[in-house]
Amino acid sequence: MRTLLALGLCSYMLLGCVTPDGPAPQTQAEGFRPYPSDPRIRLEEGASAHAARVHALLDAAVARVERVHGLPFRAPPNIHVCATVTCFTRLVKTPGLTAAVVADNRLVLSPRLFGVEADRLPGILAHELSHVHLGQRLGHYSPWIPVWFHEGLATAVAEGGGAEFASDRATYTAWRDGRRIDFDRRDVPGQRHRAEAFGLDIHEFYRQAWCAVELLRAHDPAAFRRWLVALQEGADFHIAFADAYNTDLAKLLNSQLDSIALATEPASHEGCAHPGPQVGHRHR
Ligand SMILES: [Zn+2]
Repeated sequence: MRTLLALGLCSYMLLGCVTPDGPAPQTQAEGFRPYPSDPRIRLEEGASAHAARVHALLDAAVARVERVHGLPFRAPPNIHVCATVTCFTRLVKTPGLTAAVVADNRLVLSPRLFGVEADRLPGILAHELSHVHLGQRLGHYSPWIPVWFHEGLATAVAEGGGAEFASDRATYTAWRDGRRIDFDRRDVPGQRHRAEAFGLDIHEFYRQAWCAVELLRAHDPAAFRRWLVALQEGADFHIAFADAYNTDLAKLLNSQLDSIALATEPASHEGCAHPGPQVGHRHR
């Protein structure tokens, strides 16, 4: 039991996300210097090799975000690379994260992403840059977009980055058991609905959110693009969806997820980006 608890805690430690809180901008700037080759990156002393790694990945990650979101960044992203855990925890107050976009829309990276979690850096960088991109247009972690969509979209951009710790099978089992995101539920300032609101653990929540976004994208790619652009122009989440897809968001997703989770042959593939054959595309 103790081992299981430890494993659970360890995997929670690996998550990265947007945080609702954060230090004042002047606090964030302290202790960092510009990375000479790339003005988008600032680093703590001792993080030169880390910054070089970010620099090598950054253009591709930015391109991925812009391709999926359908719009360019409004400004170059502002990335802070920590050499020490002390640096990271000074800037990111939410415990258990490995990367975060803090209140003034700066992306902070933990040294873990250059050590024990180095293989996750490309995915986490793209995931967090999706949050930065949306934050530039709608404000940091806009409450008018549900948490599940913030996370599902970022994970879709990262092709699974951020949702590695739950399987598709676990996600659909949770759905079958009634532990499911309520796609009708609206988030508002001061009332965000995260994993616990739906009886999901954090990993199942990210995975279910990712599956939902991929299903919507596969169902009608053109409508998905129209919806996403409308959201970034400030349109209401549900109204813009109905306008783009000519149907109700929850109705569509519930029926699609039901058809997968309740299929006689349960989904055996891994990776929501590649829905199984039971997920039909609708042609208009
Ligand atoms: Zn996230």
